[in-house]
Amino acid sequence: MSKLNLVLFGPPGAGKGTQSAFLIERYGLVHLSTGDLLRAEIKAETELGLTAKELMDRGDLVPDSVVIGMIRNKIDAHHEAKGFIFDGFPRTEAQAQALDEMLNSKSEPIRAMLALEVPEQELVKRLLGRGATSGRADDSNESIIRNRIREYESKTAPLKHYYSAQGKFKGIDGVGTLPEITERLVKAIG
Ligand code: ADP
Repeated sequence: MSKLNLVLFGPPGAGKGTQSAFLIERYGLVHLSTGDLLRAEIKAETELGLTAKELMDRGDLVPDSVVIGMIRNKIDAHHEAKGFIFDGFPRTEAQAQALDEMLNSKSEPIRAMLALEVPEQELVKRLLGRGATSGRADDSNESIIRNRIREYESKTAPLKHYYSAQGKFKGIDGVGTLPEITERLVKAIG
């Protein structure tokens, strides 16, 4: 059985992290979230974390080389995985190409890109709500949130075409109850 490697895609606040938790449980996948990995570097006060923090606090993307290196290390550390769920990665075409190279060289390509679709107004509402409790600097200010959405639209959303060209893009309605959305994802995985 080939590995179930999935990209969980969508704008900030689309529910990638929440839905990842369900999919990991259901399919026994290893979760790789570049946002979580970067926040761990910040917490550990590494040099990488220090550089990343400044960019993240503004809502800008961190450099491709940084996140690609982090993902490469994690993939190499989990040979036993039944599959990976990539959450918040890739976010640029360079990242998508690097990921394809890593996985194709092991003959374990991405199976599907599951794209959670949520209107911008709803995203802003959800992120401000999360900011009130998470303490995340990038969630507590509307102009930073809007900047993250702009970054997503200009650099990340075009990846839909990248995965469509490979026949892997699956759009999922990301508005509804959590179980409804999980069900849509499970159906799309097939
Ligand atoms: P969200 O999707 O809710 O914005 P994330 O935790 O995925 O939250 O990302 C938080 C921040 O971390 C991003 O705004 C960006 O600065 C940085 N980041 C995370 N993943 C990447 C990535 N793949 N490429 C570049 N920057 C990233």
